[in-house]
Amino acid sequence: MLNRDQTLAALVEEIDAVVIGGGINGAVAVAALSARGINVVLAEANDFASMTSQESSNMIWGGIKYLQDYEFRLVWSLCRSRNELLAKYPNRVKQIPFFAVIGPTSPFNRVLGFLGSTLYWFFGRLKTQGPKIFSNSGISKINRFIRLASTKGAIQYSDAILLDNDARFVYEFIKTAGSHNAKVLNYFEIIKATPRTNGWDLTALDKISGAEVTFKAKVLINAAGPYAKILTDQFEIPTGHEIVISKGVHLIVPHIETNNKVLAFFDDAGRLFYVLPMHDRTVIGTTDTPAQSAGVTVTDEDRDFLLAQANRCLNLDRDLVRADIIAERCGVRPLVVNKSANLEKVDWVSLSRKHEVELNKELNSISIFGGKLTDCINVGHEVTELVIKLGIQPTKNLNWVGESDPDIPNELITQLANFHSDAAELGIQLWRRHGATAFQIARSFNDDPLNSKLIFEGLYFTVGELKHIIKTEHVVNSDDLLRRRTPLALLRSEAELAQNLHLQELLKLIK
Ligand SMILES: Cc1cc2nc3c(=O)[nH]c(=O)nc-3n(C[C@H](O)[C@H](O)[C@H](O)COP(=O)(O)OP(=O)(O)OC[C@H]3O[C@@H](n4cnc5c(N)ncnc54)[C@H](O)[C@@H]3O)c2cc1C
Repeated sequence: MLNRDQTLAALVEEIDAVVIGGGINGAVAVAALSARGINVVLAEANDFASMTSQESSNMIWGGIKYLQDYEFRLVWSLCRSRNELLAKYPNRVKQIPFFAVIGPTSPFNRVLGFLGSTLYWFFGRLKTQGPKIFSNSGISKINRFIRLASTKGAIQYSDAILLDNDARFVYEFIKTAGSHNAKVLNYFEIIKATPRTNGWDLTALDKISGAEVTFKAKVLINAAGPYAKILTDQFEIPTGHEIVISKGVHLIVPHIETNNKVLAFFDDAGRLFYVLPMHDRTVIGTTDTPAQSAGVTVTDEDRDFLLAQANRCLNLDRDLVRADIIAERCGVRPLVVNKSANLEKVDWVSLSRKHEVELNKELNSISIFGGKLTDCINVGHEVTELVIKLGIQPTKNLNWVGESDPDIPNELITQLANFHSDAAELGIQLWRRHGATAFQIARSFNDDPLNSKLIFEGLYFTVGELKHIIKTEHVVNSDDLLRRRTPLALLRSEAELAQNLHLQELLKLIK
C-alpha cells in the first residue's frame, strides 16, 4: 500500500475516478474499481467510516421489519446480500438468533409474528436457522432477565451481526483497495469540483498538512452519505433524488446476559428496538427521529427514552440509569426519496432503506444515495458497471470480496498458547481482523513480551496488535485507533481509557 506522501505524489497524473467519502459506500466503490485495475482515488474528509458507517446497529440483515411496509423486493434483495456476506466473511459476519418478545405495543400477535418470520426465512432462501415460537413460560427458560408482565410470547428468527464493528468492516475494504493500488486518503476533504470536457478539476484540503491540493479525474463518484445531496448541489450536478435524514442513537451499557442472541422488543411507539451483544458489553438501540442535518448529538431525552424502554422490558437486578452508560453512538440514516416526493408528507419511519446509484452521463458523475451496510457488495458492483459505461476500460479482474483465508491455522493458536491461556479466542480475533498478518503480530510477542499483554482484561486486544494498527492502518489520532480500527472507546469509559497505562504509552506512538 502506498504511504501518504506517495499517494499525494501520484495525484499529478490524471486519475480515472475520484470517490468522495470513505464510509461503506465509498470503501466498496474504491475496492471494486481498483480490483478492475481502474486508477482510483478515495478522498475522505475525516477518518474512514467516521460518519454514519461507525454508528450502525452492526447488523447484517434482510430487514424483517420492512415486510410490515410491504417492501418485499427490498427484503428479498437484502436477504440475498446478507447470505452473500455470511458466506464470504465467515469470521467477520456471524449468524445470530433474534429473540423478539411480543408485548403490549407489538403491531401483531405471536402467531402472526411467527408467520411473518417464516415468510422472512423463505425470503432468506432458508439459509439461516428456521423460526421458532415461544409461550411466556418458554421465554423464561431462554432468558430469565426478560420481564414477563404483559408479554404475549415470543418468536425467534435468525439474521447476522458484525463481530468487530461496522467501522472496522469498512476499513477492511480500504485495505483491499490499497493492496490493489488505489490511492486512499483520510483527512482529505474535497472542497471544490468543477466539470470540464470529459472530467473534473478537483481541489482538496489536506487536513494534515493544511495544503490545498489540485488534481484531475475523469469520473466523479459522490459517496458522501448524509452529505451526498449537499455535494451534488454544490457541484451543480442535477439529480432525481433527495436525501432525508433520520437520527439513530445507541447506548452501550455493562453486560446484560442475552445468551448469544439479539433480544428484540417493541418500544412505546411499536417500533422494534434491540439489546445486542458487543464484546463484553451490551448495546441498546436504536431511536429513529427526523433530523434537519447530519450534525446530531445524543440528548438526555434520547438517553432516558432508551433506558426506559430497556427497563420496561428487562428485569435486571436494578434499573439501568444514566450513570450506567459507558459510551454512546449517534448517527443519521441518509434515506433516499424521489425528487418529486412531497417532503412535508413523508412518513419518516416507513421510508425505504434502499439505495439508488444515479448516473449523470453528461457530467461524468455517479451519486450514491441511501443504502445499508448489508447491501454494500451490490453498491460496489453497480458503481463499477457505471464507471465502465462512462468509457473507463478495466484492465484486471481481481477479487475484492471475501476473507482471503477463512480457516484459522492451528499453528497460530499454538504460537499464542505460549503467551495466553485463552489462545483460541485471541487467535480467532487476530485472524478475523488481520488474516495472515496475525502471524506477524504473534511473532512480535516473542520480540518483546510486553506486546503480548492484553490492553484490558476481558477484551482480546494486545499491545502488539495496537502497535501494528498504529503503524499500518492510517491512524492519525486516538479516535481513529480507539473508536474505529478497534472498538475500545465503546467498550471502556473515558476514565478507564485515560487510566490505562499500556494505552497511554501506545497513544504516544501516534504521530
Ligand atoms: C442508527 C443507525 C443504525 C443503522 N443500522 C444498520 C444496520 O444494522 N445494518 C445496516 O446494514 N445498515 C445500518 N444502518 C445504515 C448504514 O449505517 C448506512 O446506510 C451506511 O453506513 C451509509 O454509508 P455511506 O458510505 O453512504 O455514508 P457515511 O458512512 O456517512 O460516509 C460518507 C462519508 O463522506 C465523507 N464526506 C462528506 N463530504 C465530503 C467531502 N466533501 N470530501 C470528502 N469526504 C466527504 C464523510 O466524512 C463520511 O465519512 C444504520 C444507520 C444508522 C444511522
